[in-house]
Amino acid sequence: MFKTFPKGGIHPPENKLTAGKPIVVLPAPLQVTVPVSQHIGAPATPMVEKGAAVKAGQVIAQAKGFVSANIHSPVSGKVSKIDTVVDTTGYKQTAIVIDVEGDEWVETIDRSKTLVRDVTMTREQIIERCQQCGLVGMGGATFPTHIKMTVPAGKKCDLLIINGVECEPYLTSDHRLMLEKGAEVLTGASIIMRALGVDSAVVGIEANKPDAIAHLTELAKGFKGVTVQSLKVKYPQGGEKQLIKACTGREVPSGGLPVDVGVVVQNVGTALAVYEAVQKNKPLMERVVTVTGRSVKNPGNFQVRIGTPVTALIEAAGGLPDDTGKVINGGPMMGKALAITDVPVTKGTSGIIMFPAESSKRAEVLPCIRCGKCSSACAMGLEPWLISVVSEKAMWDKAEQEKITDCMECGACAYTCPAKRPLLDYIRLGKSTVIRMARERISK
Ligand code: SF4
Ligand code: SF4
Repeated sequence: MFKTFPKGGIHPPENKLTAGKPIVVLPAPLQVTVPVSQHIGAPATPMVEKGAAVKAGQVIAQAKGFVSANIHSPVSGKVSKIDTVVDTTGYKQTAIVIDVEGDEWVETIDRSKTLVRDVTMTREQIIERCQQCGLVGMGGATFPTHIKMTVPAGKKCDLLIINGVECEPYLTSDHRLMLEKGAEVLTGASIIMRALGVDSAVVGIEANKPDAIAHLTELAKGFKGVTVQSLKVKYPQGGEKQLIKACTGREVPSGGLPVDVGVVVQNVGTALAVYEAVQKNKPLMERVVTVTGRSVKNPGNFQVRIGTPVTALIEAAGGLPDDTGKVINGGPMMGKALAITDVPVTKGTSGIIMFPAESSKRAEVLPCIRCGKCSSACAMGLEPWLISVVSEKAMWDKAEQEKITDCMECGACAYTCPAKRPLLDYIRLGKSTVIRMARERISK
């Protein structure tokens, strides 16, 4: 039976142009630029200096504090400089630039393709390994995985959900991982189950990926406690709260976390990274990125080393189309436009989408006609027209009262608005201000 979440949601055109394109492994570029902050939390501290020789998989920046993540060299070569660079967010940050020489990996990494099914590590060893290997959520949130695997004292978790929804239009990297690395993903799920101390895991996959549903359903027969749940296609089902509601009927309370209802959600790519870290001792130093767009000559799913320039990905996909008006980092709903394409791929880069100029222009903004479409579309039950207006007017108390921090920035409201109001822009501003003010209140 196909399930879904009950409140709100929209159906944007899927445009999964690369769903049938197998993952292509790109060679390491001549130079990589590795930012020291690719995660939520404190930036890592560089551990190498200019001129240092490094191997692929070697720690080059050490996590600073608990909510942080180690950074590993994705290549072998020489550190050419430690510099300030613009990253995919458009902000400047410290990065380690490495000139690539050969492809020598740290000896303890198992580079064979042999599937290692038996999990021998204890819960503590698994969490420690994921921490050492610099794992973060690969669905875009980039929250350090070892923290998500640690159930807080006083909480109880009974279910792991593997997020195979990939509801953002255009993106297909998780779809391809499920088809091409399904056994590794499910082994990763079994490892996370052990770390959490749970007996059940559900892989949630939308109905527009019937091949992945069939493949993982068959594979899951060999994995104790793991099942596949088919889901109706509806955006933003990949949101943790919506996915939990769809799969289990449980409702995460406002301001709460999935673990408050006994669930931890991990993305398909993260499950694969957990498998590679625990069974192969491989740090997070490469990932699959969908590079696509209607005018792109050779759209595809490319496996690249972290730190590879986005320009190299665009070249691999046939170059920047002449009609390009905007390049998006991530999906078209939640992603952000890149100011420049000479930025490095990071752990959270799921897609690069090139949009033609004609579909990149902002439409004329008209007055709100109180049609209520934005409220109907909101899967969080918010009133987007209201929270955007109070944010625009800097009425922060009212924004907080209207639960602006529950907004997951899915963009469904702005997508449906016939008046083309920039709802999400104002909501983002309001949400970040309210969060900052709440933090200041706590620290006083
Ligand atoms: S962006 Fe926020 S307010 Fe708009 S639909 Fe999504 S959750 Fe609701
Ligand atoms: S969808 Fe747009 S026009 Fe309709 S109520 Fe919301 S903000 Fe106003």
